[in-house]
Amino acid sequence: MGYNYEAVVPYLLDWFDYNARILAWRENPKPYYVWVSEIMLQQTRVEAVKGYFDRFISALPDIKTLAEAEEEKLLKLWEGLGYYNRVRNLQKAAQQVMTEYAGELPPDYDKLLNLPGIGAYTAGAIASIAFQIPVPAVDGNVLRVMKRIAGSFDDITKELIKKELSQDILQIMPKDRPGDFNQSLMELGATVCLPNGKPLCEQCPVMHLCKAFHEDNIMKLPVKATKKERRRENHTILLLEYQNKYIIHKRAAKGLLAGLWELPSLENKLNLQELKDTLKSWEVQYDHISTMGEAKHIFSHVEWHMIGYHVAMKGDLSQFIRENTYVWANQEEIRDKYSIPNAFSAFTNEIRGINLSDK
Ligand code: SF4
Repeated sequence: MGYNYEAVVPYLLDWFDYNARILAWRENPKPYYVWVSEIMLQQTRVEAVKGYFDRFISALPDIKTLAEAEEEKLLKLWEGLGYYNRVRNLQKAAQQVMTEYAGELPPDYDKLLNLPGIGAYTAGAIASIAFQIPVPAVDGNVLRVMKRIAGSFDDITKELIKKELSQDILQIMPKDRPGDFNQSLMELGATVCLPNGKPLCEQCPVMHLCKAFHEDNIMKLPVKATKKERRRENHTILLLEYQNKYIIHKRAAKGLLAGLWELPSLENKLNLQELKDTLKSWEVQYDHISTMGEAKHIFSHVEWHMIGYHVAMKGDLSQFIRENTYVWANQEEIRDKYSIPNAFSAFTNEIRGINLSDK
């Protein structure tokens, strides 16, 4: 161990006792609640997760109801959280728990790790918080906090560095409070030792032990190798409307946003004349076209740059619904039934909030 972390343990636990935020899954750390919250928190901040968590748990209060939920209902409950594979894996794991463990999450780190969608961090979080098993749970927050405390310039994107830190944490893990200790690190990272060079060191319980602070390296740590640049894609998004119904399309079962609903789109950003030419070539009749502006959505490896148009159509539209991946849906169905990912929100908000016939 390069830095002796032993001394930070009591300070972190004391601080956690007085500063932990009150969260539903913390107040009642049932294994199912801890699991669902940790999956939601993987890409989303605590404040944003709270509402989703309450809604999810009241609709699917236990592992059995999750295992049996209809896919559309499940995706709808996840709408807005993004990264939909997380909820699909959550359900697959719930089904496995029903058949292999009689509906109860197993109190065993390796068995948890074998469930779909549960990696080392999540298995560690569930095992330590819900079952008090002394195993580490190392995510980006924990890596940042620990590497700053140690004043270490290790590249935290490397798997080996993460494994070594997990070993270091395992050695100092308090056997009587493993869940609280892991949560104290997560909480410090989320509320005090903030990312992007903005930690609130004057509020930190381990400032006196922190090398980054004393060596004036806070702005330099942690070190992350620069990521590959994202691919840029341009799209034209179409809100094709006829008599207050809109065409939506189910995406392919594999790939980005697999199996979710979307507004129809074309490659490249078309200007108004190009769009009119395209509609003409499709022999589509319309009353008017209005622009819905531009929007950008960032995924982990790709950026979508979009321009949207509302096309008020007339005439025979059956050519669009020959394939069963296309559906005409009204406002209520789009709001309540079909799950359209956030990537399209700049344009689906038009459906939800604006009376298009007034435009
Ligand atoms: Fe993070 Fe500052 Fe605390 Fe060090 S002193 S652990 S940099 S908040």
